Amino acid sequence: MTLEVVLFPCLSDNYGFLLHDPESGATAAIDTPDAKEIAAQCEARGWTLTEIWNTHWHPDHTGGNVALKRRYDCVVRGPHRAAGELPVQDIQVAGGESFTFAGQKIDVIHTPGHTDEHIVYHVPSAELAFVGDTIFALGCGRLFEGTPEQMWESLSKIMALPDHTRLYCAHEYTLSNARFALSVDGENADLLNAVEDATAKRDAGQPTVPTTVAVEKVANPFITAGSATELGRRRALKDAF
Ligand code: ZN
Ligand code: FE
Repeated sequence: MTLEVVLFPCLSDNYGFLLHDPESGATAAIDTPDAKEIAAQCEARGWTLTEIWNTHWHPDHTGGNVALKRRYDCVVRGPHRAAGELPVQDIQVAGGESFTFAGQKIDVIHTPGHTDEHIVYHVPSAELAFVGDTIFALGCGRLFEGTPEQMWESLSKIMALPDHTRLYCAHEYTLSNARFALSVDGENADLLNAVEDATAKRDAGQPTVPTTVAVEKVANPFITAGSATELGRRRALKDAF
């Protein structure tokens, strides 16, 4: 059985994602940056939204929950968080748990750092993961609520997925990440290759998402940092870059 993924730009630099099972018609939106755009993408394909999976509470990831719940009466899954902080939530999911979507096992991974409760949805059967704002192509999320140690551990969990796993990052930040990455690791041939590849995609008007575990392992400056301490140092440099 093949699950279909659709990616589309939302807001200024977010991506919206739909995961669809052609057999059952089940359709999940991963985060809800823009309810109107998500609904339009569903309508264009004749799909009915059956689920929402939130990665974390930030408004550019949950802002469409209320409108989409009203329109589709879909099931909203999201991370543990004090009640009321996520707009609409039917089912709380936590790291280490799994649930079933269209007969496929979905693994939930806790990835604190960007926010305390941030989670990633891994779809082993489709060899992909929705990573929210934890890892970006050649970058990682800002440490709004967590420590470098937490982010290092979270990135390590993602890097432990199979190499070919496609990582669906929630923002198109790659070229600006690339500029910073080159400033700290400019001799890294794998990084240079990844930057060339991303530049070609953007020049052609294409998204650089998804990336893969294999590429990020050797090219991402927050992974090649090699330790939580160096990750923290690079993250602080990037914040001021
Ligand atoms: Zn965020
Ligand atoms: Fe975000």
